[in-house]
Amino acid sequence: MLASLEPVAPVYCVHPERLASAADEFLTGFPGRVLYAVKANNDPTVLDALYAAGIRHYDCASLREIEAIATRYADAKCYFMSPVRFPGDAAAAFDSHGVRHFMADSEPAIADLLGEIDAARCVVFARMAVSHESAVEDLSSKYGAPPDEVPAILERIRESGAEPALAFNVGSGVRSPAAYAHAIDVASETLSQLPFKVRLIDIGGGFPRPYPGFEVPPLAEFFTSIREAMQALPLTTGGELLAEPGRSLCATGMSTVVRVLLRKHDRIYVNDGMYGGFWELRFDGHKQHPVTVYRNGKTLDGAVTPFVVFGPTCDSTDRLPERVSLPQDIAVGDHIAFDCTGAYSLSGRTDFNGFYSDAVVTVSR
Ligand SMILES: *Cc1c(COP(=O)(O)O)cnc(C)c1O
Repeated sequence: MLASLEPVAPVYCVHPERLASAADEFLTGFPGRVLYAVKANNDPTVLDALYAAGIRHYDCASLREIEAIATRYADAKCYFMSPVRFPGDAAAAFDSHGVRHFMADSEPAIADLLGEIDAARCVVFARMAVSHESAVEDLSSKYGAPPDEVPAILERIRESGAEPALAFNVGSGVRSPAAYAHAIDVASETLSQLPFKVRLIDIGGGFPRPYPGFEVPPLAEFFTSIREAMQALPLTTGGELLAEPGRSLCATGMSTVVRVLLRKHDRIYVNDGMYGGFWELRFDGHKQHPVTVYRNGKTLDGAVTPFVVFGPTCDSTDRLPERVSLPQDIAVGDHIAFDCTGAYSLSGRTDFNGFYSDAVVTVSR
């Protein structure tokens, strides 16, 4: 890629084989239906690689996401999994894109939804708030009803004629398989209070990938823990689990190649930063990516030293949160490949200060 493009702007390199193996790991290991959380990386190159690897179900939060998927893949199934929508969007999803799965987390949210869809033809998930200390970001602080309110919400969904189902999300960057087991236990207890059983339980996303300094157990351990916990769930025959992985499907499938623009002692300035592909580093969670430095078509090895790495904008906070170990003689014009940047990179980059790259390329074996 470097030899053929000699890039001046950041390049986002998609690795289809890695996306395929992440998808395969999930599709074969997770005991249920796998929905890709589109917000993690909605770039068409990434979407196409995941589709080619067998992903057919999509967790969407907006009509725009649904339109993007539904117009690209005729046989894709989109799930409108947000309790907050623009007026008319549930109706458009139902009428124009065949969406039959929706979400609500309160009485007003159900009423709002029922005005837009034909409930008898839909599944409506009640979202329950659960959290676990091993999650980096607690998604339950925004959405979800407390477990003791969930039975009434499910009853209300059933009365509407829709099929009631349960959903929760333990967090993002979840580091412990126990988080899912715990949430499934809470779900079992909540569902056992109902006079009926549900068929579908959506356990959300949050499955992690390792980064330097952010070690996590392999996904297989999460799947084992989920398999064990789900035995206690009171499900109807034909019952199924759903998961909404974002990061764990796309993180390993991309690397970001930046160019050194300026060096001052132990500070380097590169062409992408916190307003571009590295915006996620602002939040709690991993702070590093694996790095490789290239010069004239070869890797630059040798003794390393920690560098402060600044992005290209004028904002002084446009700086990677931790120093990065790089070869001591790194210089202007060298390229740095940051690996495992597929999640929450492209989907949130901005053109702040005029810096923006649309260079997404496929790097294939
Ligand atoms: C963000 C989100 C996901 C994906 O989360 P990851 O941590 O990337 O797996 C799944 N479901 C919901 C409801 C989300 O908000």
